[in-house]
Amino acid sequence: MSTPTKYLLDESQMPTFWYNIVADLPKAPPPVLHPGTLQPVGPDDLAPLFPLELIRQEVSTEREIEIPEPVREIYRLWRPSPLYRAHRLEKALGTPAKIFYKYEGVSPAGSHKPNTAVPQAFYNAQAGTKRLTTETGAGQWGTSLSFAGQLFGLEVLVFQVRVSYDQKPYRRAVMETYGARCLPSPSTETEYGRRVLAQRPDHPGSLGVAISEAVELAAQREDTKYALGSVLNHVLLHQTVIGLEAMEQLQMADAWPDVIVGATGGGSNFAGIAFPFIGHGLRGGAKPRIVAVEPAACPSLTRGKYAYDFGDTAHLTPLTKMHTLGSTFTPPPFHAGGLRYHGMAPLVSHLKELGLIEATAYTQTQCFEAGVLFARCEGIVPAPEANHAVKGAIEEALRCKREGKSETILFNLCGHGHFDMAAYQKYFAGELKDETYDERELAMALAGLPSVPEPA
Ligand SMILES: *Cc1c(COP(=O)(O)O)cnc(C)c1O
Repeated sequence: MSTPTKYLLDESQMPTFWYNIVADLPKAPPPVLHPGTLQPVGPDDLAPLFPLELIRQEVSTEREIEIPEPVREIYRLWRPSPLYRAHRLEKALGTPAKIFYKYEGVSPAGSHKPNTAVPQAFYNAQAGTKRLTTETGAGQWGTSLSFAGQLFGLEVLVFQVRVSYDQKPYRRAVMETYGARCLPSPSTETEYGRRVLAQRPDHPGSLGVAISEAVELAAQREDTKYALGSVLNHVLLHQTVIGLEAMEQLQMADAWPDVIVGATGGGSNFAGIAFPFIGHGLRGGAKPRIVAVEPAACPSLTRGKYAYDFGDTAHLTPLTKMHTLGSTFTPPPFHAGGLRYHGMAPLVSHLKELGLIEATAYTQTQCFEAGVLFARCEGIVPAPEANHAVKGAIEEALRCKREGKSETILFNLCGHGHFDMAAYQKYFAGELKDETYDERELAMALAGLPSVPEPA
């Protein structure tokens, strides 16, 4: 008798709430600080950038937050997403482990990002916002917000990191198809962009710079708000729909994970799959190992410092305590553009400090090798970002093989790579380089961290 490959839920089984891990943590996360006063920020400080409901979610300690019906209605376009058992990958690896993956590439944008883009657009439209500004690395977030903004009648302006703007012209075409305007960052449309270009006309851009540009414009106009695709508590909250569904699906498969693996850029898809399981463990349930996989060229969790830092390069954002490479750090160009961020979500960083998660880093060629094996076994071509999770899961499966253990591994296949085939072409041509970041630049960026006195 063969075991099923695919575990599907009915629309009626889609979660009706998001899960807020803050309710179950043994220790509250450190406060977000105002950069001028170094005092905890209040809702008023965030109001120029975000609608009130998202600010409420950002600071909420409630365990369950209801998903509004208009959001659920749009989620139903692709949710519940499928959970697969990777039988052929298991066989190719010769592992006794069971490998399951949750596939978020079925969304219109091809990744997990619409899970938060849709509620963010919804709450903004409800609050009377007319225009959203944002940044995008690989183009996934810009695409998702363009799609969501269109559904709720919002104008969307996207600052796309220069290298990815040049490498991925099709991403811009998709954003424009959804009705958004897309500019390469650094751009000449903001004061900060012009300043960066004056210093370095060929600046490749970074998420930190693009965030500064988007925040600068949002802060200037009453009808314009800013939307962030990762890092913030409310973004991680919205992504928990992934893990909540996976829990139901694993029960259908009569399985429960011993290990959960996710790729980490800003931390949102990782949190999305892992937090509901971590919370279950904190409330007395089984405690799986949780492994975050990041790029060796931008290793905030494994090489960064846990310290207060700015979220952007121009220092317009509040200070959050997180694993950071320093807000002035510009990672070398590599193809997982969605993972090129200097910081890590404060909640993910806090969990790392509490010892609730582990972190590991791999180079891009290691990850592409894993992604190609996965595609050949399972048929889905993963996004370069998702290849990090694939690599992490394969390493766990090989460990199980060495140790003769039939553990259950769950990973999040956060997106497909159909817009990233140029990177695959380079990989096959042997042209993909494992560029390492400049140690001196990292040391300088870390030396430039803002000094914040430890609370007494
Ligand atoms: C944006 C993106 C990421 C990185 O963002 P997280 O917030 O860490 O999830 C990872 N994978 C894909 C496919 C993305 O689009």
